[in-house]
Amino acid sequence: MQARHPNDPLAAAQQQLVRYEALFQLLDELRPLDDVEAAARLCAARWKYIAQPGAWRLVLAQEPGFLCLTAHRGSVAVQRLEALPPWDAHHWRTQHPCIIDAGAAPEPAWPPELALAGGREVLVMPIARAGVGVALLGVASKAEPFSALDRKFIPLLGTQLADHLLHAALRQRELEALRARACTDALTGALNRAAILDRLQGQLALSRRTRVPLALLIADADHFKRVNDGYGHSAGDEVLRELCRRFRILARASECFGRYGGEEFLFVLYPCGAQEALGAGNRIRAGIAAAPFVIDPATGQALAVTISLGAASTDGDPAASAETLIRRADEALYRSKADGRNRLTLATPPPRLAGA
Ligand code: GH3
Ligand code: MG
Ligand code: MG
Repeated sequence: MQARHPNDPLAAAQQQLVRYEALFQLLDELRPLDDVEAAARLCAARWKYIAQPGAWRLVLAQEPGFLCLTAHRGSVAVQRLEALPPWDAHHWRTQHPCIIDAGAAPEPAWPPELALAGGREVLVMPIARAGVGVALLGVASKAEPFSALDRKFIPLLGTQLADHLLHAALRQRELEALRARACTDALTGALNRAAILDRLQGQLALSRRTRVPLALLIADADHFKRVNDGYGHSAGDEVLRELCRRFRILARASECFGRYGGEEFLFVLYPCGAQEALGAGNRIRAGIAAAPFVIDPATGQALAVTISLGAASTDGDPAASAETLIRRADEALYRSKADGRNRLTLATPPPRLAGA
């Protein structure tokens, strides 16, 4: 895309127009792309119509580290980095835009992708917003130095690309945070009722397909009202938080739990048969009862807390619905309460119909 007649102002103006058109078209296509990798791929494919780099690399600040896009020959690699490599760290620190003669400059360890392009020059452009460095663009030329048009268009495209990708990355993180918040119980950080019921439906569908049994536990804090009445609502809240901390430690990878109601928690165990559910439930019950709960770290005041559980499994009832399993686990929990609390009752599967 080098002007064939560098001294012909009309040819140069035409070249410039063609590049502007390609730039605007790219920006137009970038706008709806929220996915950072897809946006980077589109830029890598189109960059050659706007400028003629051998390779380019864009590093973006993305707490807690950096997002690094490296493009070479129209394809792009995306890496998440905890810390910047020496070359990027040096230029990020100095915040000094420059063009480096690749043959002469004693640079701290070139990024291999830029060195591999074998170019004559490297254009370095730190990008700051409100005085804070947010991105660093490094572009290696091909065998010949950058043309005047390249020097004009690379910073133009670079800043637009950095802005777009920073916004896209921010939107992506906000969306992820929103999704996480929608599934999380604010007090305990456990999955909330809707999320654990969703998980139950998903795992139940899997259990039906694989014909591998699934089990459900409902755990309910014993005499929890007494905690609130005797020590105050915030002590009750602390007990609920500590219950969940212990559940996280006690639950295994195949056991997930969520807050089902006030002081009730639902565990979905998959794969898990009835006998294994007994073992898992008793492990969790014993782990809660093992040591008193500190409700006031200042005074060290502690309470003995226990839970009662009801368990139901799809063993012997592979077509059981979520509602049926919950009802059976709830009835078993009621029996645990009636039998004296701090215990686990396994729901008996419904009798098989003759010929079923
Ligand atoms: P049982 O052994 O039969 O389960 O008795 P219990 O006292 O635990 O049961 P009950 O259902 O009578 O009491 C549950 C209490 O949990 C009542 C409600 O005020 C309290 N509770 C529900 N959600 C919260 C919460 O988020 N924080 C606090 N502190 N208390 C809560
Ligand atoms: Mg209770
Ligand atoms: Mg209850």
